[in-house]
Amino acid sequence: MQHQRIAAKILIFMIFIVGCTANESTDGKVGTLQGNSGIQTAAQNSPIQVTVVTDHRAADRNTIYSGEHANDVMNLFPSDFGPVLQERGMDLRENAGKVAALTFNPNAAGTLVLYDDTGPYAWIGELYGIAAVTLASHFGVTASKPVAQYAVGELANYKAVIYIGSTYDQKLPVTFLDDVLATTIPVIWMYDNIWQLANRSSNFYAKYGFNPWIFDTSSITKVTYKGRVLSRDPLNGGGIMQYSPIDSTRAKTVALATRANGTTLPWAVRSGNLTYLGEIPFAYIASDDRYLAFCDMLFDALAPTTPERHRALVRIEDVSPMEDPAELSAIADYLYRNNVPFSVAVIPHYLDPLGAYNGGVAQSVAMKDKPLMVSALEYAVSRGGKLILHGFTHQHSNKKNPYSGVSADDFEFFSSHIDATNSVIYDGPVAGDSSAWALSRINSGISTLTAAGIATPNVFEYPHYAGSPTDSKAIRTKFSTAYHRGIYFNGALGKTPENLAHTIGLFYPYQVTDVYGFRLKPENLGNYEPVAVNNHPPRLAADLIKTAQNNMVIRDGTASFFFHPYYPLTELAKIVQGVKAAGYAFVGIDSL
Ligand SMILES: [Zn+2]
Repeated sequence: MQHQRIAAKILIFMIFIVGCTANESTDGKVGTLQGNSGIQTAAQNSPIQVTVVTDHRAADRNTIYSGEHANDVMNLFPSDFGPVLQERGMDLRENAGKVAALTFNPNAAGTLVLYDDTGPYAWIGELYGIAAVTLASHFGVTASKPVAQYAVGELANYKAVIYIGSTYDQKLPVTFLDDVLATTIPVIWMYDNIWQLANRSSNFYAKYGFNPWIFDTSSITKVTYKGRVLSRDPLNGGGIMQYSPIDSTRAKTVALATRANGTTLPWAVRSGNLTYLGEIPFAYIASDDRYLAFCDMLFDALAPTTPERHRALVRIEDVSPMEDPAELSAIADYLYRNNVPFSVAVIPHYLDPLGAYNGGVAQSVAMKDKPLMVSALEYAVSRGGKLILHGFTHQHSNKKNPYSGVSADDFEFFSSHIDATNSVIYDGPVAGDSSAWALSRINSGISTLTAAGIATPNVFEYPHYAGSPTDSKAIRTKFSTAYHRGIYFNGALGKTPENLAHTIGLFYPYQVTDVYGFRLKPENLGNYEPVAVNNHPPRLAADLIKTAQNNMVIRDGTASFFFHPYYPLTELAKIVQGVKAAGYAFVGIDSL
């Protein structure tokens, strides 16, 4: 279908309306504190004057979500950071619960994720919490809460803790700081407020071998991890922590960032059970991003004995009744010959309500109306294919959402439009969105397949990877497994009000369980797309293969891509062979 060839990519901008906070910084404030620098011994524990200079909060108020057919940078969140002077003084607060804090607990299990929840960007804390919780779910159970609600001794109930510092100078509970200093379980600390931990310790530098200094906000575009150079978005203005000289006998640089002038600084340092990341790896993420380094570092904390294993997935996309059965059969034959199990994302009913591709005459075609297509699907199954449900019609109502109103072009479970800059904008849930409505779509999709003699799939994939929380909760009652990237909203962790204007987009290099309870099969390479659409650049076979190669940093990860059957089989073959050559073995999604 020509329209499928044209409109096969989506680029989503979410415009956040966040009030300007530039004047809420700590500019020019002067305080009298006690020094506690591990290296500036002259100032240690003596009253000094501290002038806190400009707070460089990023001006960016936008984020991009990467939909089913796109692989651009996601989560262009503002950052909350400041100068992080060392001369902040020891934290001398009392901690009544300290002694009882960390009794060894043989029943400790899972990961505790703690996040910030104050300041003008309080909402970002929970979104980052969602990211951490979901990634950590790969390794087992998780729990999460705002760090302010941390209770003394709580760390003892977990195998590891992740703290995400996203609010500059949010005052952390003394019980949390003391428990982190005392615990032996792995602690992963991101970005802000590490200085509060240093100031709470009487000998932080002597114990850990590093001391945080100030953020480097220069344009840093490379992070090297396990010998591979991963990308970092040049627009990310959040900065990366710099350090006083690191004592390499105690602290190890886990990943290294490279500045534009070629000099380097640690991106992550580890000392004993403490791993510190100098930034938040969930902002400005992209396919070949330093986010992958963090995804692998979780193994060190949560499954350190995991052996190397690299598996690959491929999904044939947007197969509606109007697809060419010969194309699908040829793909099935190729994959079968090459011992590649695969999935097929099926759209049960084709609709073109506006006649966009039919001379202005509306068109409606159910799967049973195309017996050759039904046969091709059965043939694909016989060649190692697994059918999954990709919505009911993969379009919404009788209008453009955003392109044409035609199946496979448009969103089904979310509203969108194209703005003046030719970017696709998310507008929120569709009119009339409800559990009953979402379930009716799913039931219609299933009954349409049943009418064609096709067994009900047990895996769901959102059209264009988007739906409301209401839809996700409803669909989860019918499907326990989904196969898509995730879009998540404030309120998902239950500690802040639901706010559909605040989203985080995530992809995963391994199987996870998301906040709706879906077991998610990963899709992290994107798809072959030779034409630029909606400000989104082409993505060629070599690009997908490069991403697969970069994902080799993940010791037990999955290189997963999808492919539209109307593109040349030779391109699919290039990707399959390239991914294999990178070191992956293709498997079916059920074996993950
Ligand atoms: Zn689709």
